Amino acid sequence: MPPKRRRVSKSPPTKGCGDKGSATLSRASGLRQHDKLWFDDGSIIIATDVHLYRVHRGMLSRYSKVLSDIFEMPTAGETSDLWEDVPIVGMVGDSDVEVYLLLKGLYDRNFRDTLREYAMPAISSLLSISSKYDFQEIRADVLQFLTSLFPRTLKEYEASKIHNRELHPGEIFELLVVAHRCEALSILPPLYYLCSRFPLETSIDHIQSLPKDYAKQLFLGRDWLCEVSQHLFKQSLQSARVGGSFAPICKYPHCLEKFRAQLAEKYPNAQPERRFMFVFDLPEHGILEDLDMQRCGICEPCETKYLEMLNEIKRFAWNRLPVKFLNMTWEDLRRK
Ligand SMILES: [Zn+2]
Repeated sequence: MPPKRRRVSKSPPTKGCGDKGSATLSRASGLRQHDKLWFDDGSIIIATDVHLYRVHRGMLSRYSKVLSDIFEMPTAGETSDLWEDVPIVGMVGDSDVEVYLLLKGLYDRNFRDTLREYAMPAISSLLSISSKYDFQEIRADVLQFLTSLFPRTLKEYEASKIHNRELHPGEIFELLVVAHRCEALSILPPLYYLCSRFPLETSIDHIQSLPKDYAKQLFLGRDWLCEVSQHLFKQSLQSARVGGSFAPICKYPHCLEKFRAQLAEKYPNAQPERRFMFVFDLPEHGILEDLDMQRCGICEPCETKYLEMLNEIKRFAWNRLPVKFLNMTWEDLRRK
């Protein structure tokens, strides 16, 4: 289902916008001309509940099918909401920030570079409003950028710049809701994973911002990640191997002791937030990361087996990620 589009009203949001003269207009409506997005030769004024933006109707029509259709409605030319003969269009239901970011994006020749500088709430707003009014090029750029942050493959995820950003739970939960609404489905599996990584208490504090179905998916998926974590712990302790003189776990018994010590050190019981081994947060060498393998006392075959096991579980879990959180496969998401 396409994102819900709300109607753009041809009337300004407050009375008095039809008065002539900017001073009268501003005094009467409480709205201010935007200091940057106000072009003297602009052919349309976009009004939010804070600002007036004088921009070019042709630009809006060219990039937005929805606005183009609205402007072409037979009554479009009959509006009495004029300011010095320039028609005023009120954006109903859109925040000033959303409208500003959209219009700024439209006039920004380096939009793709600008996007990288934006904080998460601005990116969510752009995804939302560009989808709503069908600004296809802006939406495509936003989606491309979001896909680079929340990619489809494990390798890309590990290299993603999302790990350099500070993630605020409220902002990430908000993006999750917007991505669902705007059908940006392919970014959802890594996004759900990142939402799951917050401490349970934090998730509970923010869960009311999610519709019930998504909240359920989040908690069930988190529970599965807990299962993967337990599996990783067991496998790190070589629990699947039986030992004994015919099938020794390792001919050097201290190997297993060393693994045990690493687990105890990196996942101490006294730190509840560390009892969970989030599978995609584990570095390339897992619990052996930063160990001097020549001197640590772990033999080479045990190290190799551990690393193979770790990679296999990571690959397996990544493939299952969209199934667990969305009941879809990566292939399903690619086809969307
Ligand atoms: Zn060994």
